[in-house]
Amino acid sequence: MSFVVLLAAPRGFCAGVERAIRTVELALDGRAPGDERPVYVRHEIVHNKVVVDDLRARGAVFVEDTSEIPTGATAVFSAHGISPRVRDEAVVRGLVTLDATCPLVSRVHAAVLRYAGRGYTILFVGHAGHPEVEGVMGEAPDQVKLVQTAADAERIEVADPTRVAYATQTTLSLDDVSAIVDTLRRRFPAMVGPEAGDVCYATSGAGAGSAARGRRGAGARLAQLVQLESLARGGRDGRCAWVSTGNCRGARSQLA
Ligand code: SF4
Repeated sequence: MSFVVLLAAPRGFCAGVERAIRTVELALDGRAPGDERPVYVRHEIVHNKVVVDDLRARGAVFVEDTSEIPTGATAVFSAHGISPRVRDEAVVRGLVTLDATCPLVSRVHAAVLRYAGRGYTILFVGHAGHPEVEGVMGEAPDQVKLVQTAADAERIEVADPTRVAYATQTTLSLDDVSAIVDTLRRRFPAMVGPEAGDVCYATSGAGAGSAARGRRGAGARLAQLVQLESLARGGRDGRCAWVSTGNCRGARSQLA
């Protein structure tokens, strides 16, 4: 039996994740000779076992919560970003911190803070439990409401429909986001938000000049070429938008 292997292009890590990996490497390499104290990393820096295992072997310790990091240790925050509560906890614990939050995620934090400061309710399109969502919602917990589905968008209520903004998780499928945002726009015509959305170039391909050039664009192209698109991805991204994109475009997609 012979196989044809189709490689997605682009593939591999986005610039934000590359930067976060490099941050961990710099923290490890920056230790004085003989200093074998671990470098703690809040959340796996990338959903790639080979890279994570390599960093572990060099002295990185991956944790889910700041409370697992010993007082005074060095800690790296992943590209997903963190809430002010985590930042405060790090100060209380005397951690030496390196913040590898992706600038595109920081931009969403800044927008949420800006709208919250003006008294808006911010409808945040994202998936509950994702670290990026926890970080963004933590900026203004009383004013940010999570919208996960078009059904949520149909029933969500706000105090003042004339003061509504929206923002989205950067790593969602554009197909999913546009259906939800369209529903919100219909219900709240005065809603403000990013004209081009927050879904980042690395996944949508928008910054690359064509929506077909991003990783999701590659997923969509593969979906047109194959009947079953198997994806090698880590567990946390069980909501992986590649899968969503593939299924949406008619290919049976699953995590491998
Ligand atoms: S926002 Fe985009 S570039 Fe930044 S870490 Fe997420 S996927 Fe990567």
